[in-house]
Amino acid sequence: MPLSANILDGKKLSTDIKNEIRAEVSQITQSGKRAPHLVAILVGGDPASQSYVRNKMRSCEYVGFSSTLKRLPSTVTEEELLEKVRKYNDDPDVDGIIVQMPLPEHITPQRVTQTILPTKDVDGFHPVNVGLMTLNFPCLLPATPQGILEMLERYNIPTKGKHCVVVGRSRIVGRPTSIMMSRGGHPGEATVTITHKYTPAEELKRICPQGDIVIVAVGKPGLITAEMIKPGAVVIDVGINRVKDDSKKSGYALKGDVDFGPVSEKASFITPVPGGVGPMTVAMLLRNTLLAYKMSHGMAEMEQMTKDLYE
Ligand code: NAD
Repeated sequence: MPLSANILDGKKLSTDIKNEIRAEVSQITQSGKRAPHLVAILVGGDPASQSYVRNKMRSCEYVGFSSTLKRLPSTVTEEELLEKVRKYNDDPDVDGIIVQMPLPEHITPQRVTQTILPTKDVDGFHPVNVGLMTLNFPCLLPATPQGILEMLERYNIPTKGKHCVVVGRSRIVGRPTSIMMSRGGHPGEATVTITHKYTPAEELKRICPQGDIVIVAVGKPGLITAEMIKPGAVVIDVGINRVKDDSKKSGYALKGDVDFGPVSEKASFITPVPGGVGPMTVAMLLRNTLLAYKMSHGMAEMEQMTKDLYE
């Protein structure tokens, strides 16, 4: 009889987390302090980016943060964009800065990422934060990998000594997730295999079924099929793909990278798309903003480094 997977309900979890943040923000503002403030910079009018940013701004409002959406035309020069970022870096009333990706071709995203102050880098993309994360030092962790690990933790999914296969090695999802899953502490301590676009398809088919936990962040709908999943595995689908669907008013449906129906009959846990990792990413962005705020207000609660975690 096929297994029927439990749904890792990112929507519900993210609401729980947002309510926790909201309660904390309410205490902060009741004590007379200002609310945390997130600035989002949106360059151009890409519909998916607009919808992501809108969602982030709405979430800020929900938890009681102040938020600023700075829209810039797609013709903005790199220097003009960097100047805006520096302005927000210098503004003591701004705690977190995000620049929505992708950016137009003429702008180098790495330069933008490196210009955001590491203490305001609530996406966790700055090389300083990536370095700290890699060495397991307290820092602003990248939002999507943090959301994935938070899900595993809140659903009590063991990771220690498990084999985790990560499909995709992007700098914002696959690679940091692979590092966080292999680090000391919980969730973590997993044996990790990372695959990418140069992993031959046959190899991918051989490696994926070895995973107790399979985390997929590629951007190819249906890449991971049921034959590639071991019975009882935990499957995290990060992919968000717009697939043409005439039955929808919008003309498209959102699909993950995993062939959800058949895989959900084999897996023990699975994230839906939408409603899985996506909302967790937003919740972690808010959590990072609150942490950045607390650090700059001397209310920081960065955990102390312990020897056993330094691995
Ligand atoms: P990216 O485009 O930067 O990288 C894709 C990765 O997939 C690359 O590392 C590439 O080597 C790898 N890849 C390509 N073909 C492959 C194959 N056949 N086998 C194995 N690996 C292969 O992607 P990204 O920014 O990590 O995004 C991936 C997907 O996740 C996209 O659909 C994106 O929309 C989605 N995403 C979702 C969230 C969220 O919050 N849910 C956040 C970020 C990205």
